Amino acid sequence: MARIVVIEDEPELARGLRDNLEFEGYTVAHGATAADGLQLVAAEPTDLVLLDIMLPDQDGFEVCRRLRAGGYRMPIIMLSARSQELDKVRGLELGADDYVTKPFSLRELLARVHAALRRAAPKPGAGAAEFRVGERVVDLARQVVRHGRTETPLGYYETEILRMLFERAGEAVGRAELLERIWGVGLGPADRTVDNHIVSLRRKLEPDPKRPRHILTAHAVGYKLVV
Ligand code: CA
Repeated sequence: MARIVVIEDEPELARGLRDNLEFEGYTVAHGATAADGLQLVAAEPTDLVLLDIMLPDQDGFEVCRRLRAGGYRMPIIMLSARSQELDKVRGLELGADDYVTKPFSLRELLARVHAALRRAAPKPGAGAAEFRVGERVVDLARQVVRHGRTETPLGYYETEILRMLFERAGEAVGRAELLERIWGVGLGPADRTVDNHIVSLRRKLEPDPKRPRHILTAHAVGYKLVV
């Protein structure tokens, strides 16, 4: 059964999350500080992390950065009290996978947890693990972008977006299809989920993210990858 580490300092919210996740059959470990949370992740194999941004000792962005720098590749869903796009992109750049903005519906969070764990399960016989985009190499298995000797970690959803775009390189892939196949949810009217991940991916893959040459916008449809 999947083990989830919840890093959240609000006791009420943490208790609610634990009760509901345990009810769904997950094993839950809870830390109220960044230090406790990091220790819990290191202590036992962890399948997913729910990570609050405002923590008493360090912020969630730093926790996320440290987890990815430490080689952890599990999905990380950030619990955010802020809704600015800037923060979202920053978290994605540091290797977070998804955001839920407080106050969130427990049902929506559980759906995202299920989807993340389902997608994170090892996929036997998955296609090419590496491909080149311009001067950079995307390593899907290790979830990194290599440029010379520099490696930049990719978040779980970023990796899945690249996998889908690469499988159909040169062809436009719709936002709705990406959302449905990767997140397991339908496209909402003002859904920026995919677009936020694309902004972060361009910063990791494009020589000039403002003038993308590889991850192109297919007007009103979605995105396409030109390798
Ligand atoms: Ca907090």
